[in-house]
Amino acid sequence: MTEVRLSGIRKRYGSVEIIPDLDLEIEDGEFVVLVGPSGCGKSTLLRMIAGLEEITAGDLKIAGRRVNELSPRERNIAMVFQNYALYPHMNVRENMAFSLKLVKADKATIDQQIGKASAILGLDPLLDRLPRQLSGGQRQRVAMGRAIVRDPAVFLFDEPLSNLDAKLRVQMRAEIRGLHDRLKATTIYVTHDQIEAMTMADKIVVMRDGRMEQAGRPMDLYANPANLFVATFLGSPEMNLLPGTRREASLDLGKDGVVSTGTALPSAAPAQITLGVRPHDLQIAVDGDAAFSATVALIERTGAETVLTCALPSGRTVCVVGPAQLAARNGERIGLAFDPAHLRYFDTQTGRALAA
Ligand code: ADP
Ligand code: MG
Repeated sequence: MTEVRLSGIRKRYGSVEIIPDLDLEIEDGEFVVLVGPSGCGKSTLLRMIAGLEEITAGDLKIAGRRVNELSPRERNIAMVFQNYALYPHMNVRENMAFSLKLVKADKATIDQQIGKASAILGLDPLLDRLPRQLSGGQRQRVAMGRAIVRDPAVFLFDEPLSNLDAKLRVQMRAEIRGLHDRLKATTIYVTHDQIEAMTMADKIVVMRDGRMEQAGRPMDLYANPANLFVATFLGSPEMNLLPGTRREASLDLGKDGVVSTGTALPSAAPAQITLGVRPHDLQIAVDGDAAFSATVALIERTGAETVLTCALPSGRTVCVVGPAQLAARNGERIGLAFDPAHLRYFDTQTGRALAA
């Protein structure tokens, strides 16, 4: 059972506090994705778990044992980096054998482990090639092979797909997740890409400025973001946000109108409230049931869908995603409708979600 527990974890570089105080529990076999904007401390946190970076304060436990002072090798983990870090003068087989030779594994063990990893990753035809004779995707696979041969209890990935083109990224995403489903090793995966987080994770941890904003299952975070940061970080195009003022059972959006809130807002809700609605949850209204009137400002057809940017009377814009064949003309006046169940409300001042 290899669960990973972080309690009261802090990181400082000199007087600069990168991670002020972080608690996180990762279950045995769980695939956890740390996601957040560049510079929020994801790599720092991962490198502390790996043993490549000193932990300023707090406890790091792997499988129940405090490992703060253990070397990377003693922690029984393997890390896959963005730049793969393959040895250029060694062929694929030697790259995979290297870490096993370091721990003085015997030849039979090395052959067996390479055979296993090679079969899982489809590397057999490539074993005698040098890294420069491989494509980006193949190099990435070798980097994973090097991690697998050591049978680690925990896999760490730091933006492993960032150097690949879009199509290969989608393919490798599925491969890494498929690999996890077969090996079932505890995995911590770092990315700034919310699509990777949504599609790969059992549990997403959204980070900002060294803090955890929210953790949970992808669809739970998507449906019920804890605050405005998570609401806009997950989902593309991002959630529309319309600040307004609370009235009796409604929200006053000024020139853009009044939205009935029914019983959705708690009685203790603040006066300044921001309405959140995802672009996929707005529709062009058919006769008379419109909540907003709007003017079409931009039409983008991706092939699968139509993305409209619409101007509201106040001048604020909202994004609407509709079907591929959606009829719309630039400059056209339209009405927008929504299902009230899809609306989310936030305290404008604190950004926190208001529970219904
Ligand atoms: P992320 O991986 O989320 O992009 P990092 O963990 O790499 O973010 O960096 C988090 C913050 O820590 C950044 O502000 C970065 O400048 C700072 N940082 C990273 N490494 C060092 C270091 N060795 N010395 C000082 N500051 C650092
Ligand atoms: Mg990083």
